[in-house]
Amino acid sequence: MTSPFLLYHKIDLPTPDVKVRGAFTPPKAFARQLEMLAKRGFKFATASEMAAFFRENEEFPEKTVAITFDDGWKDNLTNAFPILRRFGAKATIFLVTNCLGKTTDTVTAEGEGPREHLSIEDVRTMSAAGIEFGSHTHSHRHFDKLELGDIQDELATSKDIVESITQRPCESFAYPAGFFTEMAKDAVKAAGFQIAFTTVYSPEMSPDVFALNRTEILRHDRFIFRFRRKIARLS
Ligand SMILES: [Zn+2]
Repeated sequence: MTSPFLLYHKIDLPTPDVKVRGAFTPPKAFARQLEMLAKRGFKFATASEMAAFFRENEEFPEKTVAITFDDGWKDNLTNAFPILRRFGAKATIFLVTNCLGKTTDTVTAEGEGPREHLSIEDVRTMSAAGIEFGSHTHSHRHFDKLELGDIQDELATSKDIVESITQRPCESFAYPAGFFTEMAKDAVKAAGFQIAFTTVYSPEMSPDVFALNRTEILRHDRFIFRFRRKIARLS
């Protein structure tokens, strides 16, 4: 089964300095993709809504996708948000809380210069309009390389910051670069999260709610036949 969690990063055209372009989805392509999903009768849920449904039913809802974005880029507001609103689509954005309001190269692709992240005010605006904000840690350190104490700090700090900005529970988590261990998974659970995502680039669904695969949408999926093929096995 294809994972109903779609993974995006940047909704933008790549800048000329960028060598690794896969994480850039052009805004027009993003709009066409949402249009295709809507026409095919898919509903859009947040990650925590999917988690709540799963707790009740031990499966995810039919004909429902959750759009997720990693890293919290400014283009999620300027480019993605108007398109999400046009289709009445909910989404979940995973923030690196140390990057809020900054222009950094903390999580940019190889060879790419610093890039602007969402600000606290941006998060408030989008949260008020129904976008969910989850944690992608405080500083994007990879969890397979950290001691338990550092993992716990990354989780608690980022969760606190997201909750203080949105005034909603922060229940969704995405592992930086997808890396996790059994210890990291247990720490995510213990910190009070309800659902956690890797970035394993496999279309197959893993049954573990604390290590869920996502269907990554890449730049080449701007060709709608490729996107159609990617979602063909979503039910
Ligand atoms: Zn990331």
